[in-house]
Amino acid sequence: MNVSSHIEAVYEEVRRRNPGEAEFHQAAAEVLDSLAPALERHPEYAETGILERLVEPERQLIFRVPWVDDQGKVRVNRGFRVEFSSALGPYKGGLRFHPSVNLGIVKFLGFEQIFKNALTGMAIGGGKGGSDFDPKGRSDGEVMRFCQSFMTELYRHLGEHTDVPAGDIGVGGREIGYLFGQYKRITNRYESGVLTGKAVGWGGSHVRTEATGYGAVYFAQEMLATRGEGFDGRRVVVSGSGNVAVYAVEKVHALGGRVVACSDSSGYLVDEDGIDLELLKDLKEVRRARISDYAEAKPAARFSDRGTVYDVPCDIALPCATQNEVRREDAVALVKNGVRAVAEGANMPCTPEAVELFREAGVLFGPGKAANAGGVATSGLEMQQNAARDSWTFEQTEARLSAVMRDVHTDCRATAEAYGGNADDYVLGANVAGFLRVAEAMAAQGVI
Ligand code: NDP
Repeated sequence: MNVSSHIEAVYEEVRRRNPGEAEFHQAAAEVLDSLAPALERHPEYAETGILERLVEPERQLIFRVPWVDDQGKVRVNRGFRVEFSSALGPYKGGLRFHPSVNLGIVKFLGFEQIFKNALTGMAIGGGKGGSDFDPKGRSDGEVMRFCQSFMTELYRHLGEHTDVPAGDIGVGGREIGYLFGQYKRITNRYESGVLTGKAVGWGGSHVRTEATGYGAVYFAQEMLATRGEGFDGRRVVVSGSGNVAVYAVEKVHALGGRVVACSDSSGYLVDEDGIDLELLKDLKEVRRARISDYAEAKPAARFSDRGTVYDVPCDIALPCATQNEVRREDAVALVKNGVRAVAEGANMPCTPEAVELFREAGVLFGPGKAANAGGVATSGLEMQQNAARDSWTFEQTEARLSAVMRDVHTDCRATAEAYGGNADDYVLGANVAGFLRVAEAMAAQGVI
């Protein structure tokens, strides 16, 4: 079988069967484009339809989520859960609450999650879910009623050995609490391991809140170390100001770097003194305010709603907001300003054109699958603690996270070198290393 035409045929089938799901097509193409060398060495995977099965989710759920707002008006949202692959373990992946959520977005995220989870080396499969519900501007009571209604349908598909959701955009500690409460009430089971991202006092893990941001910085640090560099004294730009972004800022500062800009969906903020983390956390985690309020609280900082955060010159960029936020023109600006490394804290924040430009310019590029795997890895650690009814210290858990990120980095480089001859090709390394683990398990488990 000709490997390239096999891959092309699988991709064409993805497009034909999933019309209009642009982000899913993009995520599938990104992985499939890397797999030729893996299939050359393992023709048995092509012969047993591994790719055809991998691009088709095992199960896709779409459901109505009715709830009542504070004015007594009935609202209806749409809920999703895509259980993509259980080859390595129970489906695992976050829930996203954002008005842009649709089936194609959930599928792109679920597909990415398969390979990311495989890269962590843990026994977790891939899935993702969410809703087009917008928590912004909603009261705690509205968010609670929405979460309860969402879980009233979803609970029947979950279980610590079946499907274990976590947070993502718009789903943080508050939402996980409400979701867990409703699951417990309906099932009459204190099944701690059914959701991750819980608060530390009732089954959560230390470092889960910090894990994705910290992990992305660790990954960038490992990439920089291959060139004898580090964060110390470097200018850094972080996009977003949510969970991933805030803890990326925290870890960059701990390593001696200076984050000079961050953003939200209304614009970006420049603070040449380095982002004041206490102020940022108070605005985003306590008051749920806009990033522009930072500039009001600290007049030396500047807010702009024109251009993008990537116009701010930096040595290292950490996109931590959302998919396709780094467009070609942003990559051009970054390269022109001398960026050394880009590590994706978010999922697929860089467009294919931007990634190509980084590659041409010799910029170190860490794809999200590898660079943001720290979040799900720490969710895996939360599941381990839940299963053992144990609770590890912050230091113990952070040491595990940093070891996982080091291993993911080493694995990517070794695989890239072995399958493409260039250890710096983290895209190839992450895709092939993740794929090989999943494909081996699928082959062993028969045609299911
Ligand atoms: P949050 O909801 O906590 O924060 C998201 C941030 O991104 C907010 O600052 C938000 O701004 C901004 N943002 C969202 N959409 C846009 C947009 N269209 N343009 C500009 N800014 C935008 O989410 P997380 O921090 O949890 O997630 C961020 C990314 O990281 C996502 O891609 C997610 O899939 C990925 N990720 C998250 C993990 C986790 O553990 N949480 C794990 C692995 C990946 P605003 O408030 O204005 O909307």
